[in-house]
Amino acid sequence: MTVLEEAREISNEIIAWRRELHKIPEIGLVLPQTAAFVQARLEEMGIAYTTFERHSGIVALLGPNPGKTIALRADMDGLRINEESEFEYRSQNSNMHACGHDAHTAILLGVAKLLKRHEAALNGQVKLLFQPAEEGPGGALPMIEDGVLENPKVDAILALHMDRKIHPFPCKNGDVIVKYGNSSAADDQVDITIIGKSGHGSEPHRCIDPIVVSSLVVTAIQHIISREISPFSPCVISFGTITGGQGAENIIPNTVVLHGTIRNQDLEVREFVFRRIEEIVKYITKAMRADYQLTYLNGYPPTKNDPAMVDGFLASARQILPAADIHVSEEDSMGGEDAGFFYQKVPGCFFRLYSAAPFTDGEIYPAHSSRFVLDDSVLYRGTALFLQNIFDQLRVTVVK
Ligand SMILES: [Zn+2]
Ligand SMILES: [Zn+2]
Repeated sequence: MTVLEEAREISNEIIAWRRELHKIPEIGLVLPQTAAFVQARLEEMGIAYTTFERHSGIVALLGPNPGKTIALRADMDGLRINEESEFEYRSQNSNMHACGHDAHTAILLGVAKLLKRHEAALNGQVKLLFQPAEEGPGGALPMIEDGVLENPKVDAILALHMDRKIHPFPCKNGDVIVKYGNSSAADDQVDITIIGKSGHGSEPHRCIDPIVVSSLVVTAIQHIISREISPFSPCVISFGTITGGQGAENIIPNTVVLHGTIRNQDLEVREFVFRRIEEIVKYITKAMRADYQLTYLNGYPPTKNDPAMVDGFLASARQILPAADIHVSEEDSMGGEDAGFFYQKVPGCFFRLYSAAPFTDGEIYPAHSSRFVLDDSVLYRGTALFLQNIFDQLRVTVVK
């Protein structure tokens, strides 16, 4: 049986796991129900695992023979979104798996099940990393700090994400997309508080108006993109929330708070943007007699693919999928992904599996939408792609 056939044989089980996880989405670093589900499946499979005190990460280790160690990572967390679907397996709480991390977890459980069968034939070890909090505050870094890349030391890493983007090439569900270079952007959050002096709206000269100052700040910051960064270096700064005042039209508030996201592909550009945002905030507030506080939070580095790992992954993919189902993309993504922390430490390949499906109104909605729907009939392909690459890297000769 080929690896693809083996994975297809357990497709229904992978789908069932995904749907069970879909019912119980949890957010952040502590995911009690999700972790209990994963642990129960690993126990059924007879696979040993490690857990951690400060987060719900799980590390399972397979392979009794010495050799290289390859890590596979799946994120397990959902989002604070109320799901709109009427599926029987829709979310049973006020969170939602609207990014497909339920699918990632189920795919990795599929790998665990099949790897266990072939464990004795592995010339090396496989570490399965089930990770919380990808959507924030980030679970990869605490797992690295807890030593998941050591004992045994991880030599290579693979991870995947479900995909539904519109690409310049035609894509069907089950297709695989991989990119040389960065697979995701650096993703940082900036929180700025503009501190003014409140008072009556009819007497602005006796106040320091933080609303006006924040308007100048937001406008000036956009000039970093248009006037200071090369047009060939992708960079985005978006403010998603501005909060100031309490609903009155005639009160100048004390403070205005801005929450923004900063995305870029290049670490030097990233540092430059951090510096320039702070300079702009500092000097505009000074010029306007206001004050400020500024913090950068939740920074994720870009997920940088290793060229040799991408070569190897493509060679594995070509063994099990038709050439038309495999796409090498040159598109930059401004999406963030905390797998970037693992990829800073270990050469890796991050790939995408196409799995778009329409909501009941017939439209395909993006990730993070309350109407996000995923075609889980193709998840077995993710399992097969991981598995084939493991077998190729660990030179398993006997796969029956
Ligand atoms: Zn997401
Ligand atoms: Zn995601």
